[in-house]
Formats: sequence, C-alpha cells, structure tokens
Amino acid sequence: MHDIDAILGKMREAIPAGPVRIKEAVEGGRKVVGCYCAYTPYEVIRAAGAIPATLCATSEKPIAAAEEHLPRNLCPLVKASYGFALTDTCPYFHFCDLVVGETTCDGKKKMYEIMDRLRPTHVMQLPQTVSEEAVGQWRTEIERLARRLEEALGTVVTEEALRREIAWRNEERRVMSDLYELSKLNPAPLSGREVHVVNEYFKISFGDPGMLDLIRDLTRKLRENYEAGERRVSPDRRRIIVTGCPTGKSVEKVFNAIEENGGVIVAFENCGGIKPNYELVDESLPPYEALARKYLDIPCSCMTPNDKRLDLLEDLAGEYAAEGMVDLILQACHTYNVESFQVHERMESMGIPCITVETDYYQGDVEQLNTRMGAFVEMMG
Ligand code: SF4
Ligand code: SF4
Repeated sequence: MHDIDAILGKMREAIPAGPVRIKEAVEGGRKVVGCYCAYTPYEVIRAAGAIPATLCATSEKPIAAAEEHLPRNLCPLVKASYGFALTDTCPYFHFCDLVVGETTCDGKKKMYEIMDRLRPTHVMQLPQTVSEEAVGQWRTEIERLARRLEEALGTVVTEEALRREIAWRNEERRVMSDLYELSKLNPAPLSGREVHVVNEYFKISFGDPGMLDLIRDLTRKLRENYEAGERRVSPDRRRIIVTGCPTGKSVEKVFNAIEENGGVIVAFENCGGIKPNYELVDESLPPYEALARKYLDIPCSCMTPNDKRLDLLEDLAGEYAAEGMVDLILQACHTYNVESFQVHERMESMGIPCITVETDYYQGDVEQLNTRMGAFVEMMG
C-alpha cells in the first residue's frame, strides 16, 4: 500500500481505540481531566500529572436526552456535551476525575452549572476582551485552576513541571502547524478531510511522543512525495478555507459537501485546527504569565472585539491562496453567527467569495449542503 495511505489508515484505526488507551491509563493509576474548549491550558493539567482529554461533544446521539434538561434552541455542541455526560456514553467523561470548563458563551457557562451535578466541574472565569488587565485576571484564573487540580488530584504543580509541559505542548503545536502549512502548496498535497483525520488522531494522542512521530512522518512523506512530483489533489479543485464553530464528526457532512463538489479544504481556521495552534506559549516568560498571554489571545467569537480573527482569516486567505471561505455556524451559536457579517465584509474587501452555512448535528440537510456547496464552487469558476 502507498506509504501515505498506510499512515492515514493507521491513524483512522487508532481513533476508535482512544477510550481503551484512557481506560488502561486509569487502571495504571493515571488521573484524567475532561476538557471542552481551546481556552483550557492543557499544560497545567499535564503539570498536575493528569491526562487532559477532549470530551465527546460532536454527535447528535445524546441530544434528545439532553433536551430533557436543556432548551431545544441551544447550540448542538452544548447539548451534545451535556447529553454525553448525562447518558454516560462518553468514555472520556466516564473516566475523568474533574471537568474543566470556561465562561465562553452563555449556553456553555450555564450548562456547566448543571454538569457539576454529574461530575465535579471547575469553571474558569474567562475575560471577554484582551487587555493588560484581562491578562492579569486570566493569569489568576489559571493559577486558581492549578490549586483546584492540586486539591482534586492530591498533587503539586511545580514551576519545573509547567515549563516542561509548556515546551512539550509547543512542540505539539509546531508539529500540527508543519502539517497544516503543507496545504499552502498549490495544489495541496492532501485533502481537508485527510487533515481532519490527523486532527482527530492528534486529539487522542494524549501527549504520546510515538503518536506525534507518526504525524511528523506523514508530513515528511507528503513533502518528499510532492517534491518527487506526486499530486494527490487535482489542481482543478477550488481552494477553500473553513472557519467558524468547532468541527467534529457530525459536521463532516460539510467537508464532504465541499470536497465532493469540486472544492478542497486547504485550511481549517476553527478550534481543532489552526486557531489554537498557530501561536506558541512564550517560553522566556514566567509560566503563568506566558500561559495567560497565549490562551487569552485565542480569537474565539466570545471575545469582543474580535478583530484578531478577521486579521487571521485575511492572513490565511493570502498565505493559502484561498478562492473561497466557508463560515460554518452551529445553530443557535449567536457569537459566531453575528460575527459572520464581519467575516463576509472582510472577505469581500479581498474579493474572496464567502458563504455562511448554518447547520446542526442531524444529517437531514446533506442534500441541501451538496447543492449549496456545488453552486458555491461553480460560482468561483
Ligand atoms: S470556539 Fe471558542 S468556545 Fe468553542 S472551543 Fe473554540 S475557543 Fe472554546
Ligand atoms: S459553537 Fe458557539 S454556542 Fe456552541 S459552544 Fe461553541 S461558542 Fe458556544
């Protein structure tokens, strides 16, 4: 089998085995801390000796159960997060000792109040703007998280451990960025759906150096083969950036609609893609200050103003030679939905067509998505 397909196949096979690896880690005495958001400073959780695990939140399956307690007109990501916890169907939630949440959007922060009944939930008070004062507040919150972890896990978070974990997490970010940046090549050496597989694989790598090596191998092989003339993606495909709400299993239908109708996704700006990875933690600063500066600077739509996201999109559109932008909005996500107007404005100023796709986790709109994406790609000529 072709070496690149073999590596991607290995990654696809590893993804469903994530829960087994967590179960074995717990049986070996490790603690697990559940997380939902890109603002969670994984470095602190790792410095406390625990495994930060991204909890399930991207399937429609537990939504009906969640709606017994939550309103129907709430973002599917919030409902799925709570529904998985309520029905005990997320294996990571099942094994976690503590959940860490943040006051990002209204739906999430109110949901955490009732999630705390299912599992101890520590909520970090995230400032909603970026300023020196906010950096100070966020630094205090990160220190408060460290104290809560020490108390919950019976451990001590040392400066040495924090520095070690900051360096490691930075290395993880570099490895992912190296892979993402390959798609600046024209034509891209791999499809967006393949990048998405690597994103899902990275999520369940839990800091394993061997698994990170496999991502490095993939990047190296893709580059070597490309330089040797291999083209896995047709140059006729229109280059599209996906931005907006977090991605995951149930919105793969949008990626399929783009890539089965003449497009190729060259970058995912969303959380789970470039947004949390493109900037590193400054290793020359005191650890808590460095973490506060890095994480507060993530351009999520819960921040106001959030010009940094628009600037990032403009930079990415140029660097990745984008021909179109798809703004993916989960139903009832007010912050991303409102910000969509500014995303359109910014892309229009660059002459880049932009389309907003509002969807939920159900698969009833697959046909409609295909029609819309087909027309969008065709319009690019
Ligand atoms: S989009 Fe915002 S709230 Fe959602 S995971 Fe990313 S940073 Fe967190
Ligand atoms: S997608 Fe929007 S509404 Fe849903 S959890 Fe993220 S920020 Fe909140």
